[in-house]
Amino acid sequence: MNLEFTVEELAFQREVREWFTENVPASLKARSDNGQMPDKDEQHGWEQTLGKKGWLAVGWPAQHGGPGWTATQRYIFDLERARAGAPPASPFGVSMVGPVLYTFGSADQKKRHLTGIVSGDVHWCQGYSEPNSGSDLASLKTAAVRDGDHYVVNGQKIWTTQAHWADWCFCLVRTDPVVKQQQGISFLLIDMSTPGIEIRPIHSIDGHHHLNEVYFTDVRVPVENLVGSEGMGWTIAKFLLTHERTTIAGVADSKREIERLKQMLKDTKQGSGCRWDDAFARRRVAELEIDLAALEYTNFRTVAATEEGKGLGAESSGLKIKGTELQQAITQAMVELGGHLSLTWDNDEPVGNFAFNRTRERYNFLRAATIYGGTNEIQKNVIAKMLLGL
Ligand SMILES: Cc1cc2nc3c(=O)[nH]c(=O)nc-3n(C[C@H](O)[C@H](O)[C@H](O)COP(=O)(O)OP(=O)(O)OC[C@H]3O[C@@H](n4cnc5c(N)ncnc54)[C@H](O)[C@@H]3O)c2cc1C
Repeated sequence: MNLEFTVEELAFQREVREWFTENVPASLKARSDNGQMPDKDEQHGWEQTLGKKGWLAVGWPAQHGGPGWTATQRYIFDLERARAGAPPASPFGVSMVGPVLYTFGSADQKKRHLTGIVSGDVHWCQGYSEPNSGSDLASLKTAAVRDGDHYVVNGQKIWTTQAHWADWCFCLVRTDPVVKQQQGISFLLIDMSTPGIEIRPIHSIDGHHHLNEVYFTDVRVPVENLVGSEGMGWTIAKFLLTHERTTIAGVADSKREIERLKQMLKDTKQGSGCRWDDAFARRRVAELEIDLAALEYTNFRTVAATEEGKGLGAESSGLKIKGTELQQAITQAMVELGGHLSLTWDNDEPVGNFAFNRTRERYNFLRAATIYGGTNEIQKNVIAKMLLGL
């Protein structure tokens, strides 16, 4: 495997880097520098900026409105995006329902939905999990019963990220309660402004509201919003989850976060916390960098495989496990090396190095990384099945 970028790829990297330098808003970069997430307006505004440039749906083929980049170009783009302090695009439109629609959708569905995703004007959420159906997703109960030209949807979803920001929800629903569980599931597009939908917030330990419960009571969804045919939902869900897991490794952001940790240690004044001069702090950073290098090489292998037209199998599960463990280890190191500086809360006066004060938020958020996108235990089951035949 040749790890050198070609002359064309290096030119592409320069172009992307310059564009990010000129276009990432200072307020967005300041948030990243302090380990904070953007709010709704910042996130959506940034996605629209990318959309105008044609760089939002970067994984899409050109015929559907993507830039038609190679896997290596996408990798370079993501590195430069994180390096510039810009957040990743919300995955629900561009990485999840978009690829589903251009792969399985009807001509009308493509015409109606793809443009809004590519431009960053229309926002989506993912209605899969239910209170008793997370890892065991096939047991989901939210029912869609055919009534003339509509499905009538009743049930409840949970952990629905950004449902309160979303215009549309792609939902797994049960259209047949009699057949084998997987065969009775369908994939439905639901307009979030339809009467009968109630969104209740769930506040998480990072102090923010990303998550929701979504209740459906006699929600009427036009039949033309069914993707594929009835009972095809499980096939579509499996296709989509592989997409979700390849973006979840977060190599580019972990790279940036390790650089940020180094900078925090370098900025710390004598006597106010761990510093770059401390050998144990440098050793801790070195351990993280070794894990990052291993993850990055695995990522390179998947990039090379994608370039050769090979689909991803167990690799995406491996990337999810190692990527999320590294994300947690980096924030763990930040909190421990920050010591008392990491213990402040939003309403406290800043103490010492401000960047350390903000590590709590990201640390707390990333505890969920080994759960969302399919828990890491389930990924290990996937690997066991695919590689070991267990
Ligand atoms: C921050 C966050 C955002 C999320 N966003 C969304 C979203 O936008 N849309 C959406 O639909 N869902 C979302 N989810 C839900 C997520 O997909 C589920 O939490 C996840 O699939 C696990 O399901 P569960 O929470 O019901 O846990 P359970 O499935 O009840 O699992 C509990 C524990 O048991 C383990 N376990 C379960 N089954 C097995 C098994 N067979 N073998 C070994 N161990 C097992 C699990 O690994 C876990 O540790 C989000 C979750 C979080 C935390």
